[in-house]
Amino acid sequence: MKSIKENFQKAHIVIIGSGIIGKFNALELSELGFCVTIIDPAQDKNSSNAALGLLMGNMYQKRRGRSWTLRKQSIELWPKWINFLREFNDELNIEKPLIQLTTNEEKFQKLKQFINEINDPDLKILEENSIFIKNITKAFETKKIKGMISFKDGRINAKSLLETLDKYLKHKKINFLEEEIIKIKKSNNQWISETTNNAEIKSDIVILCNSLKAVDLIDSISQIKLKPVLGQAMEIGVNDAEVNLLSLPKQFNINGKNIIPISKNKLIIGSTDEYSTNPEDKIFEKLTNFLDKKPNWLMKGQILKKWLGIRSRPDGESSPIMKNLDDGLFICSGFYKNGILLAPACSRWIAKEVEKYFS
Ligand SMILES: Cc1cc2nc3c(=O)[nH]c(=O)nc-3n(C[C@H](O)[C@H](O)[C@H](O)COP(=O)(O)OP(=O)(O)OC[C@H]3O[C@@H](n4cnc5c(N)ncnc54)[C@H](O)[C@@H]3O)c2cc1C
Repeated sequence: MKSIKENFQKAHIVIIGSGIIGKFNALELSELGFCVTIIDPAQDKNSSNAALGLLMGNMYQKRRGRSWTLRKQSIELWPKWINFLREFNDELNIEKPLIQLTTNEEKFQKLKQFINEINDPDLKILEENSIFIKNITKAFETKKIKGMISFKDGRINAKSLLETLDKYLKHKKINFLEEEIIKIKKSNNQWISETTNNAEIKSDIVILCNSLKAVDLIDSISQIKLKPVLGQAMEIGVNDAEVNLLSLPKQFNINGKNIIPISKNKLIIGSTDEYSTNPEDKIFEKLTNFLDKKPNWLMKGQILKKWLGIRSRPDGESSPIMKNLDDGLFICSGFYKNGILLAPACSRWIAKEVEKYFS
């Protein structure tokens, strides 16, 4: 009888979709010894490339249920993966801490209650005299901003992470096909993935990591529904005589908007959740109206770059969708938020399922 390890080496796994979820699954499965092929016609244009990379794990206020379990797993797994991936990019890093702010007194009281109840040394209320609050108050010209700091959460540069994963996948000689899969079917205990050019790729396992488009491939075997969610972000240039953005924390969130100062006079702001696929013209207003009154420097800010990503949100069930749909067929989709954060928890789940399948 063959050992499980031998089965792993012989087994061929096709991953459809090469966003963060597909790439991370490929990483973990390839480390387990599987032969992996990733298929994607447009990996540079996906929502993973649009992500700001904030890892909001430990500051999540609902400390029970599936969503918390996945976050907790990811928080634990990230340091191990960063360490591992540093061989391919020694600058890969999670920039900490992460600050969450609000001008809404009711929301602040809830934050306070959460911090008091949780009693976690890595989460603290930011006092009025903290240097962070002082600098934010000065820059945004309002005294109403309050919030918390999480020393365990932070930000990873999503583009740099994707590039590092690509280096790893290349180094491991993982097969990559720049094709679109239009159909999957099962024949003689094997899965066949058909491309637009009628090529057929055989595998023991197929993992659908192609976000919204996953449903097109499984509509006959599953009731899964996914809705598109648009997320937008922009880089803004400001007059540096009025403000020094480097006096601000490296990443923070005010009233739901994520803000990342990248130089003295440039910052990134994202993202909104819009249930359409067409970006609106008024993106500047949409992303900068998070205070009663905008500071002058922000009002006069210029959009230097803007970008968007379309994610998938499960309709009728909770996000994300990680399921075994059939013998050897899995889906990892519906990551409309936090796909970067949750990628390690997702790949751990897939690894366990695939190991179970072969044991
Ligand atoms: C502006 C913005 C900011 C964000 N900020 C954050 C953040 O700070 N932190 C965070 O954790 N998350 C963030 N997100 C969310 C995060 O980007 C998503 O959760 C994540 O990228 C989802 O990854 P994915 O691999 O599932 O999908 P995608 O990255 O969309 O990848 C799916 C891939 O499937 C491919 N594909 C589709 N159909 C087929 C087919 N038939 N055959 C082959 N391939 C196919 C596509 O080409 C695509 O490359 C943000 C998103 C946006 C838009």
